[in-house]
Amino acid sequence: MYDVIIIGAGPGGMTAALYASRADLKVLVIERGAPGGQLMNTADVENYPGFSMITGPDLAMKMYENSTNFGATHTYGNVTKVENEGLVKKVYCEDEVYEAKTVIIASGSDHRKIGVPGEEEYAGRGVSYCAVCDGAFFRDRHLYVIGGGDSAVEEGLYLTQFASKVTIVHRRDTLRAQKVIQDRAFKNEKVDFLWDTVPVEFKGDDKQITSIDFKNVKTGEVTNAEAEGVFVYIGLDPLTEPFKDLGITNEEGWIVTNEHMETNIPGIYAIGDVRDTVLRQIATAVGDGSIAGQEVYKYITELDD
Ligand code: NAP
Repeated sequence: MYDVIIIGAGPGGMTAALYASRADLKVLVIERGAPGGQLMNTADVENYPGFSMITGPDLAMKMYENSTNFGATHTYGNVTKVENEGLVKKVYCEDEVYEAKTVIIASGSDHRKIGVPGEEEYAGRGVSYCAVCDGAFFRDRHLYVIGGGDSAVEEGLYLTQFASKVTIVHRRDTLRAQKVIQDRAFKNEKVDFLWDTVPVEFKGDDKQITSIDFKNVKTGEVTNAEAEGVFVYIGLDPLTEPFKDLGITNEEGWIVTNEHMETNIPGIYAIGDVRDTVLRQIATAVGDGSIAGQEVYKYITELDD
């Protein structure tokens, strides 16, 4: 029986592991990929205090090492379900069931799909959701990035080191991204913009994407552009499927907590990107993780009293 099982080893989960294990709790972190979560898809981080610039994977590795300093155990597992049996929580993985007094859900979010024809078919064959993973395959190509938020513009800028040109395609005529990031994109000679435009079909030759049909949302006009690579950054969807029976999510699927990171089930907490929150940043996930790590300690101490 663990004191706390943390589901997900992103910045939030790893911080919760650090705080809870430093409070001498028996901690298990379950993760189905490499530790780091969305950090592993992030090229450069320049808004995490203490580092003027660090790559996402480097920061992930530092957080991972730090999270194990006080005895937290990390294990591989794909969580499929959590059951609340009052004082005991059961965490089901594909081939294992773990038990704990408390659970911290830090499962994060996934890149949203556009849902147009050809997207699924050409995923990994010219359609990508990860510039850090796939950017280097597209040297000297003209690339398209879909979206107007921080991720689209930042990752579009990252891609300019490989691409001959990066066209950012946005459904409105003003970007959502932070101004400092926008300014960089407007100054970059390799970046141009296609405003008021959405992709309606990714076309290919069965092996690879070869062109994209774009629609101007104001005029309704559809045009076809040759394309060898497209990166989709249109926001995030919560990874909450395994928790849907617990009744802790809102209509959009994000987990609702109070300021103590508690859900409406005593002993079950949620932190980071998966939480219904106003800002999804590395720093906010870390803040959530520290609160939850401390809160599980208080909850367990009160149980034991
Ligand atoms: P986001 O902020 O939700 O932006 C999504 C973008 O995609 C918006 O511009 C949106 O258009 C567009 N979009 C949404 N659905 C679309 C569709 N079906 N078709 C075409 N376009 C669509 O998502 P994000 O950029 O992935 O960022 C997620 C979170 O991480 C945010 O909180 C962001 O601030 C944070 N983040 C921060 C940093 C940083 O601080 N350096 C870096 C990356 C991410 P509209 O603008 O019209 O809604």
